[in-house]
Amino acid sequence: MSYKVEPVIKQVCSSIGEGPHWDEASQTLLYVDIMTGDVHRWNSVTKEDTKLHVADEFVSLIVPCEKGGFVVSTTRSLAHLDWESNQMTVWAEVEQDMPTRFNDGKCDTQGRLWAGTMGLEKKAVGELPPKMGSLYSLNCERSVKKHVDKIDLSNGLAWTSDDKTMFFVDSIPRKVYAFDFDAQAGEITNQRTAIDFSKGTPSDLGCPDGMTIDTEGKLWIASFFVGKVFRFDPETGSLLQEIKFPTSRTTSVTWGGVSLDDLYVTTSAYGFSEEQIRTTEALAGSVFRVTGLGCRGRPANSYQG
Ligand code: CA
Repeated sequence: MSYKVEPVIKQVCSSIGEGPHWDEASQTLLYVDIMTGDVHRWNSVTKEDTKLHVADEFVSLIVPCEKGGFVVSTTRSLAHLDWESNQMTVWAEVEQDMPTRFNDGKCDTQGRLWAGTMGLEKKAVGELPPKMGSLYSLNCERSVKKHVDKIDLSNGLAWTSDDKTMFFVDSIPRKVYAFDFDAQAGEITNQRTAIDFSKGTPSDLGCPDGMTIDTEGKLWIASFFVGKVFRFDPETGSLLQEIKFPTSRTTSVTWGGVSLDDLYVTTSAYGFSEEQIRTTEALAGSVFRVTGLGCRGRPANSYQG
C-alpha cells in the first residue's frame, strides 16, 4: 500500500497545533493553536484557512455543537463560542486556581464532551508537575463530572464502534488505557493498559499524543518528539504501521475528506529555536494530510447539549 504525506496548511500554527476535528457537513477541518488562543477552520474545497482569536489564554479543543456554535476549552473552562460574533460564554469551570489547564477533548456518541487536564509545563517542553490532571465529561445538561484523577498529561480519546470501550492516552507514562464504556450512563470502569509505549525507547516510539480509530478498530496515534503516526492493534498491543513526517512534534490525528479516508495530522512549532525552524523543523506547525492509506474513520461526534 503506497501512501502520500503532504503539508496542506504550511506553518499555520506558531505554537502547538492540536485538536483536529473534521466537520463532515462543511468539509472543513477545525483545529486550535493552543498557546496563541486561536481556533482555525480550513475549508478543504477552497483551501482557505480562517483564524479566530478567542481567548488570551490556552485553547486546546474545538468541537461543533448540534444547536449551533462550538464548544471550546480555555485554560480551566469549557465555553460556548459563537464564531460570527466571537462571543464566548463559559459553561463550566474546573480546578480553579490550580496550576493546570485543559488539554485534548472529544465527544462520545451521546454528544457528551470528554476532556482532560494536565499540570502546566515548566520551561522545557514535556516537563510538567506529575499527577495534576483529571479526566472529565460535560454532559448534555452542561454539568461536569470527574472520572479519573492523578493523570500526568491527558491526551487522545477514541471509542470502539460498538461503543463498549473507550481509549485514553496519558502521555508521560506513555500509555494508552482502555476502559469499559457505558454509553447510556456516561461511565467508565475497569481501567487497563491497551498499548504501552514505554516498552519501546523514547527515540523509537516517542510519547503518545492525539489519537483516532479506524473502521477496523485499530488506533492511529500521533507520537510527539519522533514525528510519527503509529497504527496499533489495541487488542494485542502490537504495532501495525508507522508513518513518518518531516517535522518531529506530531500532535494529533483525525480522519477527514469526503470518504473519511484521509488522515489529517497537526504538529507543534512550540519550543524550537529559530535555527531549527529555519532548517530541520521548517514544516513545524503545519497541518499534514496522508492519503492512500486504505483505511477510513467514522464521522466525528458533535456536542449535543
Ligand atoms: Ca495533545
